[in-house]
Amino acid sequence: MTVVRRVFSVFPALSRLLPSSGRCSNRFTTAADLEELITPPVQINYTKLLINGQFVDAASGEVIAHVAEGDAEDVNRAVAAARRAFDEGPWPRMTAYERSKILLRFADMVEKNIKEIAALETWNSGKPYEQAAKIELPMFVRLFRYYAGWADKIHGLTIPADGPYHVQTLHEAIGVAGQIIPWNFPLLMFAWKVCPALACGNTIVLKTAEQTPLTALCVAILFHEAGLPEGVLNIISGYGPSAGAALASHMDVDKLAFTGSTDTGKIVLELAGRSNLKAVTLELGGKSPFIVCKDANVNRAVQLAHFALFFNQGQCCCAGSRTYVHEHIYEEFVEKARLRAMRRVVGDPFKRGVEQGPQIDSEQFEKVLKYIKSGIVSGATLECGGGRFGSKGYFVQPTVFSNVEDDMLIAKDEIFGPVQSILKFKDIDDVIKRANNTQYGLAAGVFTKDVNTANRLSRALRVGTVWVNCFDVFDAAIPFGGYKMSGMGREKGIYSLYNYLQVKAVVTHLNKVR
Ligand code: ADP
Repeated sequence: MTVVRRVFSVFPALSRLLPSSGRCSNRFTTAADLEELITPPVQINYTKLLINGQFVDAASGEVIAHVAEGDAEDVNRAVAAARRAFDEGPWPRMTAYERSKILLRFADMVEKNIKEIAALETWNSGKPYEQAAKIELPMFVRLFRYYAGWADKIHGLTIPADGPYHVQTLHEAIGVAGQIIPWNFPLLMFAWKVCPALACGNTIVLKTAEQTPLTALCVAILFHEAGLPEGVLNIISGYGPSAGAALASHMDVDKLAFTGSTDTGKIVLELAGRSNLKAVTLELGGKSPFIVCKDANVNRAVQLAHFALFFNQGQCCCAGSRTYVHEHIYEEFVEKARLRAMRRVVGDPFKRGVEQGPQIDSEQFEKVLKYIKSGIVSGATLECGGGRFGSKGYFVQPTVFSNVEDDMLIAKDEIFGPVQSILKFKDIDDVIKRANNTQYGLAAGVFTKDVNTANRLSRALRVGTVWVNCFDVFDAAIPFGGYKMSGMGREKGIYSLYNYLQVKAVVTHLNKVR
């Protein structure tokens, strides 16, 4: 990849985010570094490796931008700003209709700049540009419009009580929301978190994932241009154990929303509990079954199962990563799944028709390759793929394993990569037990023509979402979240509003009742 500057130059609003000159290094610059600076800033022109008389990029990747790294002190500043904006600022005090108009204006501005923002999202994450521009950015805009619609429809109840009382509930904003998001869908995760919090009148400190800091900063600037008051939305770029932990354990943060791995989810829950018992919602890992029944149209099932697993380089918490196929159609399914994976277009995410870009970073890339090795060693049949794609970047060949058994690591762990595991099942009771035999419970796919089978599976599967004859339908109005160790609480739809509201009961004694 070349430098990200090229993308910034096509979108003037973004160029503000890049320093015109700066101290360059291969890591984030810390606030402490800046304070220690005792000489004038130096223009550093040479940042590559000098090998054999040539400046070359490091084998492990090229630097595309330098981003300020926030730590605990910066989190304190951001929380203080959010607190002021909540306690004294106009945002919670303006009418809900005014808030909704700002959300709508922001959605319009993002829509106008979809191509540029999608390009930046591709630089940010490596995902195909077409996916960002045609699927994710339109969804982002839709989410803001959906929650703009809710802003002025949030209200409590009047409740009949036993006695001379007038009882009402007030649905009030919670206060300062801390939000920690992952790198797989940087803008969509931003929207899932920010939309409901703002619709309810909260203020926010959001920490982006260290791998993908660019787009949240960019859209936040547009948000301010759309009329969002200062201090309402504060963005911290930085690492988890420093900035993330500071946010999770902050005494002045009233609510924490986190999306990421189950292991980190446990850490942030503990931090929240040990500090001020802030309310916590978690959206964590998954190992979703995708169940293809005996009566399925195999061609369609293969297409959908492929999409369910390979979408976004396989980097989805709800990826259909255990493909259970009925034994009657197993051989045909495996062969067609292999052919489909071999046709998958991998390459430069900016090129037309590319379906799969690189994995997010070297750590994830190595992790995926390790799981592929473990699949081979444990005796699964490697149908295709199995290694690195090309010689540069973190591309992985679309990989399909058949004859996968439930106790193999590739069937148990969240791989988060383009590795499909196809398992065989005999009957519905058997597959229900096996599908539920996991610590996770995020989502499941069911493919069948039989409405009774669909209903039975939908009720028996212990997961937050069941997609029947479809997958990854992420409508703004549909709630999403996990059973078991896939999380707590729901995002999107009306359910997400409850995460950002306090319910206050107001009980007034009535002197005279007619
Ligand atoms: P992954 O392993 O997929 O990168 P993580 O759960 O580690 O997923 O990361 C998701 C988000 O959680 C990121 O924003 C990351 O910076 C943050 N994070 C990681 N570790 C911690 C931590 N100890 N405390 C708070 N946030 C963290």
